Amino acid sequence: MSNGGYSTLVRTAMAGAFLLVGFALVSCGGDAEDEAKGKVRVVYHDDAIAPENRRAAEVVRKSRVLEQAADWVNTSLALPHDMVVEVTDKVPPGVEDAVTQPDGRTIYVPPEFLTELQGVATDVARTVERPALFPQDRYNADDLTALSTQFIFGHELGHALQRQFMLANLGLEEDAADGFASFYTVNEVGPAPSLAAALVFDELARKEGKTTLEGLSSDHPVTQARVFNFLCYLEGSDPKRYQGPLVGAGYLPKTRAPLCPQAWAMLDHGWWTQLQPHFAAAFKDEGDKDQDEARTHLIAETKAFAENLDELRSGR
Ligand SMILES: [Zn+2]
Repeated sequence: MSNGGYSTLVRTAMAGAFLLVGFALVSCGGDAEDEAKGKVRVVYHDDAIAPENRRAAEVVRKSRVLEQAADWVNTSLALPHDMVVEVTDKVPPGVEDAVTQPDGRTIYVPPEFLTELQGVATDVARTVERPALFPQDRYNADDLTALSTQFIFGHELGHALQRQFMLANLGLEEDAADGFASFYTVNEVGPAPSLAAALVFDELARKEGKTTLEGLSSDHPVTQARVFNFLCYLEGSDPKRYQGPLVGAGYLPKTRAPLCPQAWAMLDHGWWTQLQPHFAAAFKDEGDKDQDEARTHLIAETKAFAENLDELRSGR
């Protein structure tokens, strides 16, 4: 393991010791022990950010998108271990993108990757017409960088939660990680991160060019397919609101759109149900209610889907 990995372990151990001290002072509280087990921390390593990557790192730091996601996990979930988000260019060998270590306790967000993302976001802002749904005052390179980082970080958090909780997967881990990015951002933030990620991945797909065997054999869906998945979950989360601007305007094909409300309902129910045994004590009532609503919604969507199925199948 690299030096970076070693120092992470040391820091994590120390944080654990501090938390134990804190706990001793409030040990009569009962539930406090659960709450103190694992917390997410975001660490910007200023001394390990290359000068050419400082601008992109600053954009993300100011936006606080990493801290917002960390706060949501810290408020809602009882992690078994601490999780450290390391914003540093000192990464293990071969790391070029945002990555999660196999134990789900460390996520690397290399500023070099943020600079690349900012390059793509700059091209989007300059050359792609703004979708009407995307707020005009945020259609610029910096906001697109921060919002797509918010979505991509959601993907990494999805990996980290799967690993820490040893969630039972019924499909590829990468699909589940993308799903968590949609689940978290659509529910907690709104449409902008999904839209920014769709715009950025669409631009990336253009830059990648023709589909290759390497792309098809990846454990990630091919880039262009991910764009439509992001849009499908967003549309399905509120078809009344999104059908016009996403399907009517031609961003999400009419062949895919009818599947999206049920797809979203399954994803939303799936994540709430998977996370339910791991809710933080203070979040349990609210989380149980969210899970129950997601279940009711899935039953209703499945029924509606079944009622329209003959029409949908013959209309294709
Ligand atoms: Zn991944």
